[in-house]
Amino acid sequence: MSSADSRYTIVGATPEQQAAIDELASQFLLSDERLGAIIKEFRRRMEEGLAADGKVLKMIPSYVTRRPLGTETGTYFAIDLGGTNLRVLKVTFDGKGGAATEYQKFVLSEEAKNRTLFDFVAQSVDTFLEERNLRPTGQQPPMPMGLTFSYPVLQTSINSGTLVQWTKGLNVPGCVGRDVVRLLQDALLRLGLRVKIVALVNDTVGTLLSAAYRDPTAQMGIIFGTGTNAAYYEDVTSIAKWKGPSPSSGEMVLNMEWGAFDSDDFSYLPFTPHDIKLDRKSINPRKQAYEKMISGLYLGEIARNIILWLVDQRLLLEGRSSEILNAMWSIDTSYLSSGAVDTSPDLTEIQQVIEKTLNINNSTFVDRQIFKVVAILVGERAARLSAVGVVATLNKRPHLLNSPITVGIDGSMYEHYPYFHEILVETVSHFIPRESFENINFTLAKDGSGVGAAITAMLAATYDD
Ligand code: ADP
Ligand code: MG
Repeated sequence: MSSADSRYTIVGATPEQQAAIDELASQFLLSDERLGAIIKEFRRRMEEGLAADGKVLKMIPSYVTRRPLGTETGTYFAIDLGGTNLRVLKVTFDGKGGAATEYQKFVLSEEAKNRTLFDFVAQSVDTFLEERNLRPTGQQPPMPMGLTFSYPVLQTSINSGTLVQWTKGLNVPGCVGRDVVRLLQDALLRLGLRVKIVALVNDTVGTLLSAAYRDPTAQMGIIFGTGTNAAYYEDVTSIAKWKGPSPSSGEMVLNMEWGAFDSDDFSYLPFTPHDIKLDRKSINPRKQAYEKMISGLYLGEIARNIILWLVDQRLLLEGRSSEILNAMWSIDTSYLSSGAVDTSPDLTEIQQVIEKTLNINNSTFVDRQIFKVVAILVGERAARLSAVGVVATLNKRPHLLNSPITVGIDGSMYEHYPYFHEILVETVSHFIPRESFENINFTLAKDGSGVGAAITAMLAATYDD
């Protein structure tokens, strides 16, 4: 790609500035051919993960073998532990595919993220129930709850699983290798709270289930939020490593843990020096390579690395930086969202970010245009790469595309990043035959992960197997 594409032409730029932007564009804009090669490798890694444990794509059996029918009714409770927030939910299913949700959000404190996580969760559940007068008394049976836990867990039953590693900025010592339900159940016990965790699901599994309650054709659930991951219904006979009983439905939801793709050899994804720098300074170097190019926790930091690379060559802001711009993680991905769609004549939105947020005065129009191009390049690469996992997964069971299917997607990146949905869908269309592609319905499954945990609690209470 070259500056022939007007979106990457900086009006009034010096040749050196334009050359640097062209270099970035050539690194960040991925051809279909390049994506095709990555999709092929992704598919190979899926097969590898279906065959054996301990592979890059973990393809984790979720023990969820049913689909909700959409006709189930009742009120169920759930805990949704995401990357940024904790939510406690009360969900009432209406039997017609609809669910009324009441929830309370608790922001994870730094102490919770690094030390007291499970006590913090238990305390939040207590607060939620107490404030609504729902706290079970000694006379009552324990209240069943579903738990959505959006970190890689090797599931050992529908309500137990051991933590593989922390991702997305959480780092609580003493948890890896232990059963996270046990850890939470112990914390609940310490508070004397009569709550029993009956189901443990990954947030992607929850997103898929909540989409499936509304629409029985749902086949895949995806998150593009703080991190990224996906789950889908797989034919049990295709899960060669599965040694458990064959479910009557013949299928099981798999948690792909796709954020790890290419983390072992770093040889397929389009790593730039800016990505490598981020990876090296992250709390989980050489892990979650795919996630680090796609999700909200990281894109702002990639942009910051690019900006400093330009500043240090005196191609941006006359070589000036600030304490804030020098600090890691200081650019939130939401600033890229607003920057990428700033169409005001003077780019005032971007000017605000540079001057107010980053505390650097006197930005020029050229500076602001460069910020905008950086935001677009980082976001567009993320959306194009997102299609890789989607295409590889949908092409795994191609016969399903002979009739309409739904893909439920949640997360702030998908919901708010400008054109993320459009670029994702457009890119997918290049890799799937037209008649099949037209059967795919991408829907926003907003807050699906929490509702999904309540659905698993409901499934556990309603059905035997
Ligand atoms: P979680 O993944 O914890 O469930 P979200 O789906 O809300 O939560 O994702 C939060 C992530 O999305 C954060 O990394 C944040 O920087 C990013 N984010 C928040 N708002 C926006 C936005 N408007 N555009 C792009 N990214 C955003
Ligand atoms: Mg979420």
